[in-house]
Amino acid sequence: MTKIYEKAPAKINLVLDVLRKREDGYHEVEMVMTMVDLADRLTLEELQRDQIVLASQAGFIPLDEKNLAFQAAKLLKQRYGVKKGVYIYLDKQIPVAAGLAGGSSDAAAALRGLNRLWDLNLGVPELEALGAELGSDVPFCVRGGTALATGRGERLESLESPPQCWVVLAKPPINVSTADVYGRFRASEVGVHPSVPDMLAALREGSFDRMCGALGNVLEKVTLAHYPEVRQIKEVMTRLGADGVLMSGSGPTVFGLVSKESKLARIYNGLRGFCKEVYVVRMLT
Ligand code: ATP
Repeated sequence: MTKIYEKAPAKINLVLDVLRKREDGYHEVEMVMTMVDLADRLTLEELQRDQIVLASQAGFIPLDEKNLAFQAAKLLKQRYGVKKGVYIYLDKQIPVAAGLAGGSSDAAAALRGLNRLWDLNLGVPELEALGAELGSDVPFCVRGGTALATGRGERLESLESPPQCWVVLAKPPINVSTADVYGRFRASEVGVHPSVPDMLAALREGSFDRMCGALGNVLEKVTLAHYPEVRQIKEVMTRLGADGVLMSGSGPTVFGLVSKESKLARIYNGLRGFCKEVYVVRMLT
């Protein structure tokens, strides 16, 4: 019995800018995204019967057609006429509805893993195109690394890895719906947009300080207005000495970039005082 293992890392947005709402209902975005080493783990096993079976230790995610990993398997089966089935075990480590693209990364890992399990021989560009049918963040999760994402998030340009640093993730005990945040977002109310060219220059130069200065997310204003705990976490992280602090995606997870290991214990312990879910991770290079 063949078994395949795939890691599905979380992503953070170093920049998230929304330019406008399009006629097709999607938002035109400009995002700089990178992966961190907090990951779900997928185990994929061939089933002789023609069925997709999904299981997980996490009790709070759908295990049916609503799950993005399930949808990835179904899409591949339909598109390539695969008659075999698959058992997918999803070891969920990424917090759900957190702004870390856990579901999108699971879908991407399922595409990568099933490509191998079912010998489909698809290249990364084909997997990215399939990913775009499942969700706007899935193509980036297929490609990994660090990238500029434009369009609705599906047009990708790979970038240099960010300068190495520590990433502290803090997720308050609330789930935020991405659709709700985008629903409340008004492009006309943004004011100052983050500078993507500045972030690209920071990455080219490998400048940690410039990267911290160029962090920006236009969805912060929307989420912070409804969830004061997110604002509080930002303030505490900054006070505790993180070098750059930003909400990821539509939130509520806040990340802090930290260059010196000696600062980590203070930041971690200070946050744990009122937020149970705190992770210290590295960026994946
Ligand atoms: P993004 O940053 O892309 O907006 P997110 O991190 O905010 O994503 P997810 O963790 O991907 O959010 O989950 C959002 C919703 O998607 C959940 O409430 C859940 O019902 C559904 N979902 C579908 N598939 C999965 C999956 N594999 N893992 C987690 N949630 C999933």
